[in-house]
Amino acid sequence: MTAAIDLFIEEARAVSVVDAAVSLGIVGPSFKGNHAGPCPVCQGKDRFAISSIKGAWNCRNCGIGGKDGISLVAHAGHIDVRSRAGFLAACAEVIGKPLPDEAERETEEQRAERRKRIEAQKAKNEAAAADREKQDNAYRDREVKQSRGLFFGASADPHADVAAYLKARTSYDMPAEVFAYLRSNARCTYWHGRDERGHEIAHYTGVAMIAPFVDPAGQVTGCHQTWIDMRCEPKFRPDLGTDARGDPLPTKKMRGTKRGSLIPLFGLMSSTRWVGGEGIENGLSIAGAEKFRADTFYFAAGDLGNLCGPADPKSRFVHPDLTKADKNGRQRRMMIAGPEPKVDQAPDEAMQAADHVTELVLLADGDSEVIFTAAAMARAEKRLTRDGRTVETWWPPVGMDFSALMTRY
Ligand SMILES: [Zn+2]
Repeated sequence: MTAAIDLFIEEARAVSVVDAAVSLGIVGPSFKGNHAGPCPVCQGKDRFAISSIKGAWNCRNCGIGGKDGISLVAHAGHIDVRSRAGFLAACAEVIGKPLPDEAERETEEQRAERRKRIEAQKAKNEAAAADREKQDNAYRDREVKQSRGLFFGASADPHADVAAYLKARTSYDMPAEVFAYLRSNARCTYWHGRDERGHEIAHYTGVAMIAPFVDPAGQVTGCHQTWIDMRCEPKFRPDLGTDARGDPLPTKKMRGTKRGSLIPLFGLMSSTRWVGGEGIENGLSIAGAEKFRADTFYFAAGDLGNLCGPADPKSRFVHPDLTKADKNGRQRRMMIAGPEPKVDQAPDEAMQAADHVTELVLLADGDSEVIFTAAAMARAEKRLTRDGRTVETWWPPVGMDFSALMTRY
């Protein structure tokens, strides 16, 4: 062995796991602490770890790890370091310098072997990704089917509590047509948590309002459940206890696919005037105030994301005064999703208004943070604007939503 090669190897050995990970783009240049992410070889989500404290890396799935940059670069590059030539190739890779002239090199045969290993792993990764997608699709199909069952299994003959709830939250008596959409289940199970055998636990059973999510073709793609307890003023929702973090469990749940679909509240989708916002109660408050206009279709999007759609990342902006603690506990200004819609959105990324709609009224929630909501509503207006259609947003008084305005709750 020559001194030049010795020096070359020592230089490579001096490269730390973190330095090698930075050069491979696995972590950023200022990385410190523990990193979990996809393995450069077998991918996955969080099976691959790097620790700056231990100066080590490891893949749970490949069952392999190391404490120097050489081993990490060899792993990522499928280099077999058991042979002298492979080891030297990894050294060259980790310091980014060509091998000294006199060094032993990988033979053509060894190089071909390496290429074969890379090809085989690539094929394996692709098969695993296809498998995951198939599973995701199967899960989604099952969810859609179950949520359709929940909706079609519910009664269009309203439970007294569902009718009383809508009256209390909007101040208006609902016409019978509303209950074709907003159905009732007197004994609806609220699933939460899993037992030691992995089965979901029936956490609560009670009266629920069951609404459908309907796609532009009129197909039910999901359902929206609201549990009701008329003894619990002012919002008339049951107290379901708290989750593991101590936050109250939500009294609303959405199942199946909601993105790109909407909840019909009153009227027909063939109407040219559409009015709707995020929530069911707000939409019905406005419908009531307008005396359920026969020329109007009232709807709810279910949540703000489905109403307003994704933002163009370039329009992100810093909130003028809201801050949030970062990972290290430092207060940073909050970044807000901007007023510009993401370009080239697919129709299933947010709810759609039908082509024949000429007048669209969007209802803002006044009880959410005002700058965040204003950016989102501006985004919704731009996203849904067409030639021959007017789009406007109605705002309730500051700090209220329309439901609160009508009922003073
Ligand atoms: Zn791996």
